[in-house]
This record gives sequence, C-alpha cells and structure tokens, in this order.
Amino acid sequence: MANELHRRYRWFRRQTHTAREALVLTRDEQWLFEQDDVERVTESDWDPDLSWMTDDERRQEHTVEVYALVRPCADHGRQCRHTEWLTSVCNVVDADQNYARVLFAELATELMAE
Ligand SMILES: [Zn+2]
Repeated sequence: MANELHRRYRWFRRQTHTAREALVLTRDEQWLFEQDDVERVTESDWDPDLSWMTDDERRQEHTVEVYALVRPCADHGRQCRHTEWLTSVCNVVDADQNYARVLFAELATELMAE
C-alpha cells in the first residue's frame, strides 16, 4: 500500500508544480477511490465559453467537457433525478488522460474541503 501511494505521488509530482500539491492530490485521489458512492463523470460541455482563445485557436476543433463527481441515486443509478452533483468543473478544453486524472483529484480536494 505504501509503495502504491508512493508510486502515485511520483506520478502527481510529474504533473504538478510543487511537492505539497502532489501530496494533497495523492491523498485526495486515494480518498476518492475509497468512496463507494461517488462516481467520476465526464460529459460534453454543450455551452462552452471559448472567448479566451485566439481566433485561430477557436477555428480548430476542440473537445470541451464537464468533469464532475456525483453521488448516483442508490435505487435508480446515475441517470435518476435523485443523483447529487457534488462538485464539477466545466469548460475543460482538450483534456488528455493525465489532465483528467489531475482534475478529478482536484475535484476530490474541493469536496473534502466542504
Ligand atoms: Zn432515484
């Protein structure tokens, strides 16, 4: 277990700026893995705001997504209206797998801070 956490820590250390940040993300990703009732969700962002891009950038194709942590309805699953959206971030542009993993860990940090 300690080795596994250390491996993950090293992974976060490569993605982030500071050791402290990496430590927090390692801890919070672990916490997220332990939450049986919290699901990671990625959906298309149908109302993206790309106004911050240059015109050239905006002309290219982009994937814009919403990342969320949700607590699915215990009886009916995620598509049910009882599903709680715990925290989310929208307007995520062209995220690769690494960035997605960091994002979910950051969302876990937000959730733990509440
Ligand atoms: Zn329900």
